[in-house]
Amino acid sequence: MMRFDIMTLFPELVETVLGASILGRAQKSGAISVRTHQIRDYAEDKHNRVDDTPYGGGKGMLMMAPPIYRCYRGVLRQQEAEGLEELRRRVIYLSPAGRVLDQGRAAELASGYNNLILLCGHYEGVDHRIVKEIVDEEISIGDYVLTGGEIPACILADCVARLVPGVLADAECYEKESISSGLLEYPQYTRPYDYHGMCVPDVLLSGHHANIEAWRREQSLRLTAERRPDLLRNAQKLT
Ligand code: SAM
Repeated sequence: MMRFDIMTLFPELVETVLGASILGRAQKSGAISVRTHQIRDYAEDKHNRVDDTPYGGGKGMLMMAPPIYRCYRGVLRQQEAEGLEELRRRVIYLSPAGRVLDQGRAAELASGYNNLILLCGHYEGVDHRIVKEIVDEEISIGDYVLTGGEIPACILADCVARLVPGVLADAECYEKESISSGLLEYPQYTRPYDYHGMCVPDVLLSGHHANIEAWRREQSLRLTAERRPDLLRNAQKLT
């Protein structure tokens, strides 16, 4: 079981994404739980203000530290009220300045922790002091900049959640696919056999499992060499 606590100014965005399809079912079955926490509820002034201009000048607004800190304390209080003091927690700030997420880090998070507390920035980001105070790790989803941390949080939660036991029907689903295996996945086909004149490779209809495995391995290697030669180093380690 993995619990995600997501601190955000836009909980509805996160709830919609993580409430659908496989992750929605995983929440219903109890394999994961997703709690969102509206940072604005922890603002102190009567205008519910959560951002201010940066010291030293510069464009845009920064999210202030105190509402985020109070929100974080609120998350811990809620967990305590639910009898969950003993969780193995990791507090992560989604940030373009973080370490870029990869499958290996997702697997470590899935196996090493059972509570990820995700902080989503917005506007120009957050006051650096809150990162120093509560954050264990910063994670980026890639070398580009988005308007907010909500989509990155959903990507991280999705990527980690599908590695949590009980979320996917069969662990083989992810063990063999692109990146997890160290290679890109081979091409896959389903019905109809003949689609616009393109037929399914005969070997896949042969019922000969060793030949099918060999064909898939060869296709994976070819595709990886073509598109991601950097991954081949890992593949060599696996053989
Ligand atoms: N001024 C910040 C900087 O240069 O690093 C960028 C702030 S960005 C416009 C607003 C928020 O979106 C960030 O605080 C972060 O939470 C999120 N964000 C944007 N791009 C991201 C990325 N590649 N990975 C993770 N989070 C990202």
